[in-house]
Amino acid sequence: SRKWGRAMAILKEFEDKCGTPIVKLRQVADAMDVEMHAGLASEGGSKLNMLISFVDNLPTGDEEGLFYALDLGGTNFRVLRVHLGGKDRGVIGQEFEEVSIPPHLMTGSSDALFDFIAVALAKFVGSEPEGFHPPAGRQRELGFTFSFPVRQTSIASGNLIKWTKGFNIEDAVGEDVVGELTKSMEKIGLDMRVAALVNDTIGTLAGGRFYNQDVIAAVILGTGTNAAYVERAHAIPKWHGLIPKSGDMVINMEWGNFRSSHLPLTEYDLTLDADSLNPGEQIFEKLISGMYLGEIVRRALLKMAEEADFFGDTVPPKLRVPFILRTPDMSAMHHDTTSDLKVVGNKLRDILEISNTSLKMRKIVVELCDIVATRGARLAAAGILGILKKIGKDTVKVGEKQKSVIALDGGLFEHYTKFRECLESTLKELVGDEVAETIAIEHANDGSGIGAALLAASHSQYL
Ligand code: ADP
Ligand code: MG
Repeated sequence: SRKWGRAMAILKEFEDKCGTPIVKLRQVADAMDVEMHAGLASEGGSKLNMLISFVDNLPTGDEEGLFYALDLGGTNFRVLRVHLGGKDRGVIGQEFEEVSIPPHLMTGSSDALFDFIAVALAKFVGSEPEGFHPPAGRQRELGFTFSFPVRQTSIASGNLIKWTKGFNIEDAVGEDVVGELTKSMEKIGLDMRVAALVNDTIGTLAGGRFYNQDVIAAVILGTGTNAAYVERAHAIPKWHGLIPKSGDMVINMEWGNFRSSHLPLTEYDLTLDADSLNPGEQIFEKLISGMYLGEIVRRALLKMAEEADFFGDTVPPKLRVPFILRTPDMSAMHHDTTSDLKVVGNKLRDILEISNTSLKMRKIVVELCDIVATRGARLAAAGILGILKKIGKDTVKVGEKQKSVIALDGGLFEHYTKFRECLESTLKELVGDEVAETIAIEHANDGSGIGAALLAASHSQYL
């Protein structure tokens, strides 16, 4: 029918606009490389903050003792207790608890959020086994993974630049987040010192390096997306401090805020951005990460419902609800292997209250998921190529035996199989067979928590 033709035209146009041919990906990688240089040259020199982490030494494996870590960066936060065994013994034990953050705290006050965290932490400390209590007079130490852009002032202090990923707590912006947490801990008499403030990319890099010395970068693909890598300190013009003994400095790129005219943006991306809590910000993140992929699919489907009566004469009301289609549900539909796409049918019915969908319609929905996930995964691969270019690991040097491992983590990477496979195959395609032999992507399962504990250990006041 004519309506169906119109729906197909909308789909086709969307697919074209989302296209990421290799040439385009190379342009994105080149632009990433250029912005990395600019961000390292001067503060505010680029959309890429290229934040100095104050981490100039990554774990060696010698770290030992009992350390706490706290991971805040999405909808959940976790508290961890990690027992490090020192040389050759690795991580002897770890325990963690996950607590979900009540949504009202994500947009409330700084005090309310940090008080809530401190209370959960105190409760967890209360479960510390008898034999592990610190001797009298010794403080417990914590690695704080705080995955929002922070301008660090030392390894254990830093001011919040802005919120992302659905958080928006105005009175915390510009504040030292370690100070805020410490204040809340003191209020309830929790005697604990923050020894390291990092974000999830730095934690993942540290955790990854602990297990594999070839790890040179870390990428997070979860609710949001970000990357960190090991830079040579003398390649950071804006760093006026001493050149560390190692010669290295870990850089938190905050690549979620990358943007470039080469990014394939559609009308849905533009309205998603305009309607977001942070318009104009985090454009790369809005194309790639778990918070947004399902929402992009919803917006495309809504357009097809409105302009081509895709779901019949009326637009299903639920389809108008922002963020109702979550990325895990999109992923489930995308991976549906049943011959009649039963999973797709069920999701449409249960989430959007659309019943009686035909197989033909369900196939289109899968097609939409594929377009959005493929674009995101291929752009993430281009971002990784940008990092490899920046540090000269995108080519093989004669006589040099090198291995570059990138530690990846985050719920999107972990659970969205088609996304992960597409990212991996695209990176191979981008670097070519010879270089592909020297590059590996490793899933750093939960490296970030352990990494923060390791960094707390290596920055302990008792060393
Ligand atoms: P965070 O990024 O909030 O620290 P995670 O790394 O656990 O937390 O990532 C959670 C995100 O991963 C979710 O917001 C969701 O977008 C994505 N995700 C979780 N499970 C799946 C899934 N099964 N398929 C696709 N994406 C998923
Ligand atoms: Mg996380």
